[in-house]
Amino acid sequence: MAERTGFFTDTSVCIGCKACEVACKEWNQLPDDGFVFQATSYDNTGMLGASTWRHVAFIEQSRPVPGGDEGVERWLMSSDVCKHCTHAACLDVCPTGALFRTEFDTVVVQPDICNGCGYCVPACPFGVIDRREDDGRAWKCTMCYDRQRGGLEPACAKACPTDSIQFGPLDELRERAEERVARLRADGHEEARLYGESPSDGVGGAGAFFLLLDEPEAYGLPPDPVVTTRDLPAMWRWAGAAAVSAVGAVALAFLGPRGQRGSGGSRGWGGSRGPLGPLGSRAGGGR
Ligand code: SF4
Ligand code: SF4
Repeated sequence: MAERTGFFTDTSVCIGCKACEVACKEWNQLPDDGFVFQATSYDNTGMLGASTWRHVAFIEQSRPVPGGDEGVERWLMSSDVCKHCTHAACLDVCPTGALFRTEFDTVVVQPDICNGCGYCVPACPFGVIDRREDDGRAWKCTMCYDRQRGGLEPACAKACPTDSIQFGPLDELRERAEERVARLRADGHEEARLYGESPSDGVGGAGAFFLLLDEPEAYGLPPDPVVTTRDLPAMWRWAGAAAVSAVGAVALAFLGPRGQRGSGGSRGWGGSRGPLGPLGSRAGGGR
């Protein structure tokens, strides 16, 4: 297996240009999202979806900017994407094998194998994977699997003018992110934190992790995501035990009384003193 690759999205340097969204759409030939004017934001795509595999959120906040002028409000910009979870529930529940783990330890969906059942959609703890309305199949970021196989970096990382999206070996990215957080905190951004970088979190660590300047909820991210299939092995064990118990109870219900009657030997229905036995005996004896 090749070295695990990932994304480190440093939201502290994102300028909201959406070049990443456009590059993703262009490379992957994704259709538009309908050009909807949200009215609440300059953000026109709204959220991740079947045709939006990178989504740059604009979050307007009324709070002092560290080191900034009094009364200045801040915008948080963050380019969200599939987290390529270490424990990926979407992959766990896919019945056709359309979702698979690549040699780069990323999670990819193969549209020609997806049957549109949609099991993966509620399984994702981040609400990432989505079905397209026209054909029902599921789609999401592939971390440009085709480009990686050709030795190229993903299109979004290539297009990002500020290096907000960094691509590379995951271990290296984690080290780089730790240094960046330490520097930001030293500069007075005490709220700087990493999200999804820890292998001990609820999804075993994300292949695409983030540097945030606020709580995850401010960016629409779950604060403590857990792989939704975590309890499946225990549930299967319980289901198996219940099935064995049910079969045992049915077997007892049918076989138990017969077993008791059978143990009665000649005194049971099938014994020589049954209805035919004495009749037969009488018949024989009378003639
Ligand atoms: S973020 Fe969702 S779609 Fe992406 S790998 Fe994790 S579970 Fe699957
Ligand atoms: S290309 Fe980079 S700077 Fe522009 S919106 Fe995307 S992440 Fe932000």
